[in-house]
Amino acid sequence: MKDIAIIGGGPAGAAAAIEARKLGLGVVLFERERFPRGKVCGEFLSVESLPLLEEHIPEVLARGAVIDRAEFIGRSGESHAFSLPRPARGLSRAAMDEALWQAAGREGCELREGVGVRRAQKQAVTARGERHWILETHAGERVAARSLIVACGRWWALEGIPSPAAQVKSAGAGEWMGVKAHFRGVAGRSAVEMYYFRGGYCGLAPIENGLYNACCLVHRGRAGGRRVAGFCEWIGSVGRHSALDERLRGAAQEGKTLTTAPVRLARRASELDGALVAGDAAGFLDPFTGDGIAMALRSGGLAARTVAASLRQNEMRGNAGEMDQSGYGEAFARASARSYGIAGILRALVCAPEGVQHAAAAALPWLGVRLFNGTRWRGSEL
Ligand SMILES: Cc1cc2nc3c(=O)[nH]c(=O)nc-3n(C[C@H](O)[C@H](O)[C@H](O)COP(=O)(O)OP(=O)(O)OC[C@H]3O[C@@H](n4cnc5c(N)ncnc54)[C@H](O)[C@@H]3O)c2cc1C
Repeated sequence: MKDIAIIGGGPAGAAAAIEARKLGLGVVLFERERFPRGKVCGEFLSVESLPLLEEHIPEVLARGAVIDRAEFIGRSGESHAFSLPRPARGLSRAAMDEALWQAAGREGCELREGVGVRRAQKQAVTARGERHWILETHAGERVAARSLIVACGRWWALEGIPSPAAQVKSAGAGEWMGVKAHFRGVAGRSAVEMYYFRGGYCGLAPIENGLYNACCLVHRGRAGGRRVAGFCEWIGSVGRHSALDERLRGAAQEGKTLTTAPVRLARRASELDGALVAGDAAGFLDPFTGDGIAMALRSGGLAARTVAASLRQNEMRGNAGEMDQSGYGEAFARASARSYGIAGILRALVCAPEGVQHAAAAALPWLGVRLFNGTRWRGSEL
């Protein structure tokens, strides 16, 4: 019997596992894939995500590229930039997620790599009403835990728990798809570059080992059903952007093009029948904000602290009845509400005619930092 089972070994699950171990809990962490694994992501690590990474994976983080500016570039090459309040980093998800997973292992978590959880159900185990979670893996193994954190990412299915589609509290405009690839031979700049067009954008950011990550989010209406093979051909067919073409001219794609769909920008439930939900599983914020990873790390930590406090409380009550974890949902909503509000405005701009996009981009040199700061996760309890 573990104190806490965590499903999902991305940033939210790993941060929850590390925090829970620091608080002395027995933790089992499940990840259905094997590391290192790539992921469709801009691989921009906002300054808010850096403290935890500096503490637990300093060597890997130090390999990442420094990013101190954001630049927004229209199709005809007009560009508007602002300096980031503090430098961010560019680091591949393959490197970061594997390092965080190993850090969770060093803290003493039981790591279950390559093990997908199929079902999670609460069962009464004592006459006093104490209930435990019983998890069943795809291989049929059963594991019991006093509490559960769901950190399965944007899109998941677990028997016994309402699916993400059933929990949507507020949804953004339609469906999107994400596409990414790494490139070698792009001239280095310490900036995250956003190449925008109506119905989507492509972010270009330096990462480790002299590589660049190109990552697009495109509305399904714009992307149509076009097959994705080479990244450059695909982006050329959905949103031809001469400034981006110019930037990638002479660069060589390294590795596969990764895709993910559907991407639904939506807020969901952060508590489900006593399970705490962290990271993207509790809602997906527009990646334009570059704060998804920081929110995943912080909500994972918050979920672990909430579980630790309620386990202590329950022990004092003689382990009778349900654990009280109600504070988590409120803290989550307080910390993320403003981010969702501002991200909604940014998302409307991504769908707006290019004239409106240019006008908005022109305001960025003086409004950019304020908008950027407005999308950050906030909360003193963190
Ligand atoms: C196009 C795009 C660009 C983005 N760019 C950025 C960016 O530049 N910066 C930024 O900060 N954020 C960005 N994001 C957001 C960022 O990727 C997410 O916010 C972050 O990955 C959330 O972490 P997580 O741990 O919640 O989920 P994930 O990273 O998705 O991890 C969830 C894990 O759970 C595992 N899992 C799922 N189901 C099960 C199961 N049943 N059993 C076991 N394991 C399971 C999955 O395999 C996965 O590894 C971007 C997202 C997209 C789509």
